[in-house]
Amino acid sequence: MHNEEIVLDEIKTANIRLFVKREDLIHPFVSGNKFRKLKFNIAEAKKLQKKTLLTFGGAFSNHIAATAYAGFENGLKTIGVIRGEELADKWMENPTLSFAEKHGMQFYFETRANYRQKHTGAYLEKLKDRFGDFFLVPEGGTNKLAVRGCEEILDFNEYHFDYVCTAVGTGGTISGLINCSQPRQQVLGFPALKGDFLPAEIRKFASNDNWKLIMDYHFGGYAKVNLELIEFINEFKEKTNIPLDPIYTGKMMFGILDLIKNGYFKKGSQILAIHTGGLQGISGMNERLKLKNLPIIK
Ligand SMILES: *Cc1c(COP(=O)(O)O)cnc(C)c1O
Repeated sequence: MHNEEIVLDEIKTANIRLFVKREDLIHPFVSGNKFRKLKFNIAEAKKLQKKTLLTFGGAFSNHIAATAYAGFENGLKTIGVIRGEELADKWMENPTLSFAEKHGMQFYFETRANYRQKHTGAYLEKLKDRFGDFFLVPEGGTNKLAVRGCEEILDFNEYHFDYVCTAVGTGGTISGLINCSQPRQQVLGFPALKGDFLPAEIRKFASNDNWKLIMDYHFGGYAKVNLELIEFINEFKEKTNIPLDPIYTGKMMFGILDLIKNGYFKKGSQILAIHTGGLQGISGMNERLKLKNLPIIK
């Protein structure tokens, strides 16, 4: 995917150049990084002659949408174990879940208590009894094969960037970026949640130390937003024509521009921000914003 320079006064004044890698354009509905994370998992499922992918996610999960679509494209059945049994009779009103269903995903709605058990052996046995054999993709899609897929994000004509920035959820994407970065590059992660577990998770997969998590821009936690963030996303799109999602890329870009204003980056630095996608989540978020009488994302 191509890189686009962000030209804004505050970036120019700081003597920085900022580019965005448009991984969001990989697919109109499937998050760029989720596509990368599924690639080698699907290859492995096929190699093992599995017919079904099973995975987990919440009601607005980019990963659920991506898994449904990838299964559809590859002739694999998909099963989504969805957090929240109350969704069983109203998933049709949810844009993420109706997209997934349209692409063949079968749902299994689970209580929050049971959902927390999802990666235990006993719970997986129960799922095997119910659905038969399947290839398991973890929640958020992060495993070794997913990290390998994300190692394909950077290529050699991006080795001159001083910083590579990404949003962080489970840590798979940043791990892949770390592994394919150059030692002189710094990889900065912007967690979309209060992720105390993240450094340990990243160390499981990453083979270099040239990374850092910037913990100051999660806006209160996963899927939490405020007026300032929504206004930022709308203004950014107006000025640059690049849409950002409220859960991941909006928070990352807010953080990058804030750090630029605060003089965090050395003058003359070149930054590459990965647009990991997530745009399918906007319509679901807008429904929540309307209920809270907040402006919507345009
Ligand atoms: C899932 C997701 C992330 C986080 O990726 P991880 O590999 O879980 O850290 C970032 N951006 C978008 C748009 C996502 O959907």
